[in-house]
Amino acid sequence: MPGWLLDAWREGGDHPGVSGKPRIYVVYTGGTIGMRKTAHGYVPESGHLQRLLAELPRFRDVEVPEFVIEEFEPLLDSSNMNPSHWLRIADQIRRNYADYDAFLVLHGTDTMAFTAAALSFMLEDLAKPVVLTGSQIPLEETRNDAQSNLLTALLLLGRYHALLPEVMIYFGDKLLRGNRATKVSVTGFDGFDSPNFPPLGRAGIDIDIDWELVLPPRERSELSVVAIGSAHVGAFRIFPGLAPRLLEALLAPPTQGLVLECYGAGNAPTADPEFMRVLAEATARGVVIVDVTQALRGSANLSLYATGRALLDVGVVGGFDLTAEAALAKLFYLFAKGLSPERVKQLVQQPIVGELTPPASEFFGTAWTAADRQR
Ligand code: ASP
Repeated sequence: MPGWLLDAWREGGDHPGVSGKPRIYVVYTGGTIGMRKTAHGYVPESGHLQRLLAELPRFRDVEVPEFVIEEFEPLLDSSNMNPSHWLRIADQIRRNYADYDAFLVLHGTDTMAFTAAALSFMLEDLAKPVVLTGSQIPLEETRNDAQSNLLTALLLLGRYHALLPEVMIYFGDKLLRGNRATKVSVTGFDGFDSPNFPPLGRAGIDIDIDWELVLPPRERSELSVVAIGSAHVGAFRIFPGLAPRLLEALLAPPTQGLVLECYGAGNAPTADPEFMRVLAEATARGVVIVDVTQALRGSANLSLYATGRALLDVGVVGGFDLTAEAALAKLFYLFAKGLSPERVKQLVQQPIVGELTPPASEFFGTAWTAADRQR
C-alpha cells in the first residue's frame, strides 16, 4: 500500500457505532438477492432479505461492520429502473452521507452497470465508497452467491472505507470501477467485468486492492447530487441492413445526444450516402453522436480507418473505450449541466471520473474545468 494511503488509514470509522465499528448505510433497491420464490417466479418481497439476514449469525461477526438497511418502496426488479430511481438512491446517500462511513446499494443485476455509471457522475465530490452488489441466486436458496457477495462487500467497505472514494461494483470475486463495468453473464457467479479496465480488487483468500488504480482521495466536503435523466438522449446498436430512416427517427428533435454502438474500432456503413446524410443533418442541428464499440474490449478510435474518419467528418465523436452504459450516463450528466453541444462533444472524450482512457496522442480541447462543474 502506498504511503499516502497508509496516512489515510483509520481503524474505526468516522462514525463508529456503539460497537466502535465502521457504519455502513445499505440502500436495498430490490433484485434477485432478496427475492422470494413464488408460483409466478422470483419476486421481491418487503422485509424478506432482512428476515433472512437476522437468521445468519455470520452477519453479526466482530469483523463485520455495523449496517442499517433502508428499503425501497416498492422493491424493484432492476429492469424496471429509470433515472428517477438513480436519483432516489443518490438522495438517500446524500441525506446519510455525514453519518455513515460507506454505502452499499443492493441492486438487481440487469441494470446494475447503468446505475453504477450514472451514480459515478451524479455523486459529485464523492469522498467515501459506494459499492453496488446483488446476486444471481437469492439469499433464500441453499446454494447461492448472495451471502458471499453481501458479506464480502460489507467486509471490504468496513476495512477500506477511508480509502476508496468512488462508485464500484462488487460481484463474484471482483471489485470493479462502476463506470467501467458491464454485465457479462446471465448465469455465472462472475456476472460482471470491466473488460477495458483491470479490476480495482479481487477477493480470494485475501481481499487485494490494486491501490494504483483507485481514484485519488478527495477532501471530505458536502456531497452534491446532480439530477440526471431529463435530457433527451439514447443508445442505438447498428447492424447490417439498418434502414437509415430508423436512425433518422431516433435523431429527430428533441433528441440531444445518441450513443451509437458501432463495429470494431468504431466503424459504420459509411458507404451508404443516406446513412451519412442522416448523421450529418443531426450533428448540424447540434445532436451529439458518440461512437462506442460493440466489441467488449478495445476502443472506438475514429482516426484509424477511413470509415471512422468519414464519421468524424460528419461530426460524430469517438467515445474511445467508454462502455455503452457509461457513455449514456455521461451524456445524461453533461446535458444536465446545461453545457453546449460543442462542450459536451469535447468533454465526452475526456475522463471525468475514470470512465475512459483516451489515446495519449489525441487532443480534445480544454479539460473539465471548475466552470463546467459549477453549472
Ligand atoms: N431481473 C433481476 C434484476 O435485475 C435480475 C437480478 O437481480 O439478477 O432485478
